[in-house]
Amino acid sequence: MSKVVIVTGGGRGIGAATSKLLASKGYLVCVNYRSNSESANEVVSDLTLIGGKAVAFKADVSIESDVVALFDATERAFGSVTHLVNNAGVLLPQSNLVDMDVERFNKVMVSNVTSCFLCSRELIKRTKSEGAIVNVSSVVSRTGAPFEYIDYAASKGAMDSLTKGLSLEVASKGIRVNAVRPGFIHTQMHADGGEPDRVKRLAPQIPLQRGGTPDEVANAITWLLSDDASYVTGAFIDLAGGK
Ligand code: NAP
Repeated sequence: MSKVVIVTGGGRGIGAATSKLLASKGYLVCVNYRSNSESANEVVSDLTLIGGKAVAFKADVSIESDVVALFDATERAFGSVTHLVNNAGVLLPQSNLVDMDVERFNKVMVSNVTSCFLCSRELIKRTKSEGAIVNVSSVVSRTGAPFEYIDYAASKGAMDSLTKGLSLEVASKGIRVNAVRPGFIHTQMHADGGEPDRVKRLAPQIPLQRGGTPDEVANAITWLLSDDASYVTGAFIDLAGGK
């Protein structure tokens, strides 16, 4: 049976690296994006060149009707969705909590947590076979990101709870739910967070003395989705250089 995966926010960064690796392993991949069609289409072209099968689909995964449309489109292209990577997420400029307004806090929660809830629910409602979900959380769910992004850290903490609880709810159906917790990965996200060179600045404080690459995170996500991890559920892999 074909393995059909949706990678949310698959057009750049960790999502793009994951889409490429999964396609190289034979998954049929839907590369979801919210706004940047150019980079998502580029990912699809790249992985078609290596013999992979993929489509790009625009959907804001924090909106219920968009998520339904995303699953409908993927099913039309490839058949029933069996695997899901909840990777889409936003990081807003560094700020103390006291200076955050409620619109910002809610935006981060809806973008990072509601999206994970909606996509996971859709997969569970629809799948008729065994399957797997990997949530892309963050090391800040443990550290709290004080003076920078407590909103973002709280959203990732919620993703961790969702991962644990859902893994127990659906284990008997043969659906595994796990998470990766990256930190300090070289992507454009840090520019969105107000400091493009953040990883370089923090490298000396990281035990492994460097930032990570999207490919290093993609390797862990791909392993958790795969049959090699068939007895792993409700688990977390930290990818933060020892932090
Ligand atoms: P990135 O390069 O900024 O990519 C984020 C992706 O998410 C973009 O492709 C964006 O799509 C998509 N996205 C955001 N909101 C969306 C929505 N509502 N619907 C659909 N797509 C949406 O960041 P990244 O570093 O690869 O981050 C990927 C994941 O890793 C995130 O969940 C992030 O929190 C997590 N993470 C990253 C780091 C790090 O150090 N980089 C560390 C820990 C965790 P468009 O471009 O189309 O807008």
